[in-house]
Amino acid sequence: MTLPVRPQPRPGILDIAAYVPGRESVPGVSRVWKLSSNETPLGPSPAALEAMRAAAGHLELYPDGAATKLREAIAEVHGLNPANILCANGSDELLGLLAHTYLGPGDEGLYSQHGFLVYRIQILAAGATPVVARETDERADVDALLAAVSERTRVVFLANPNNPTGTYLPVEEVRRLRAGLPGHVLLVLDAAYAEYVRRNDYEAGIELVSGGENVVMTRTFSKIYGLAGLRIGWMYAPAHVVDAVNRVRGPFNVNTLAIAAGAAAVRDRAHVERAVAHNETWRAWLTQELTALGLRVTPSIGNFLLVHFPENAGRTAQDADAFLAARGFVLRRVAAYGFANALRMTVGPEEANRGVVAALADFMSGRD
Ligand code: PMP
Repeated sequence: MTLPVRPQPRPGILDIAAYVPGRESVPGVSRVWKLSSNETPLGPSPAALEAMRAAAGHLELYPDGAATKLREAIAEVHGLNPANILCANGSDELLGLLAHTYLGPGDEGLYSQHGFLVYRIQILAAGATPVVARETDERADVDALLAAVSERTRVVFLANPNNPTGTYLPVEEVRRLRAGLPGHVLLVLDAAYAEYVRRNDYEAGIELVSGGENVVMTRTFSKIYGLAGLRIGWMYAPAHVVDAVNRVRGPFNVNTLAIAAGAAAVRDRAHVERAVAHNETWRAWLTQELTALGLRVTPSIGNFLLVHFPENAGRTAQDADAFLAARGFVLRRVAAYGFANALRMTVGPEEANRGVVAALADFMSGRD
């Protein structure tokens, strides 16, 4: 047998297309509005920043590996048992931990057509096979997901609301999905945008986890809480899932500053309310204005909009992206999600929202 001359990644690793984050800057443009990563325009709660500064006194010490204070704060606010909560370095890390804990070669991980890209990456990284179920009207389709389940399926990932579409499955549909899955298949409800959903469905989502053994819900501090830079995610899961993932995760995966800031942020409900209200006002305004310009906007329940461009030459998403970037507005290209002619836009501060609409009005009418 001839051995390779240098180390080789496991089979499947080089099939992974690395995740490309939203751009932060544009060469040659000094003032940029970053509307490419679904971050909040309100920033973090002042209480979170204060707690973080206070916690910075002893960085020579390891953090509490169990993130106890953060789990207790989350549990208190959401009425959960802290034993069913596990925290991580962003919910991205949780998605990876769940994939690596429950999937291996020969297994299938299932997600829907325009599902968040990290699912595919983590399924492949675990050595398993990604399976994709078609969507209807850019929304996850429970019948298609159930039809795609095979005897090899071990994990189903569902972002609700989904990124990049912003579409949302009501709890009755999620219940139907769960009811149709065999008990040994883990359903991962990725609720990164949960706080933007006004309906009480998220309480019902929590019930779904509590009411059985095969549902987990992942959440993040990166969106509504404005703490993307600290990397904090958590999951609410049955005890046996928490136990299994705890065996796999890094011992100090949530840092000292994140534990302190996250605990203060989750308790600042007024800040969350302000962010939700801002989002609702400007998401509605943007949807209306962009539609009036002849663009199709997928109805969104998140803090971002998927904006589809007409097919005629000179008005494509790629052209719009370059036009907007030159004016300092950075949106997200979504071709990797199968939307070659759309851009995703975060609901930003008022000035940025008005600026994008004015720039797109120029773009659509051919003004320079
Ligand atoms: N899930 C979805 C659907 C997302 O859009 C994101 C952020 N892009 C994440 C998970 C990951 O968020 P984080 O790792 O910052 O918690």
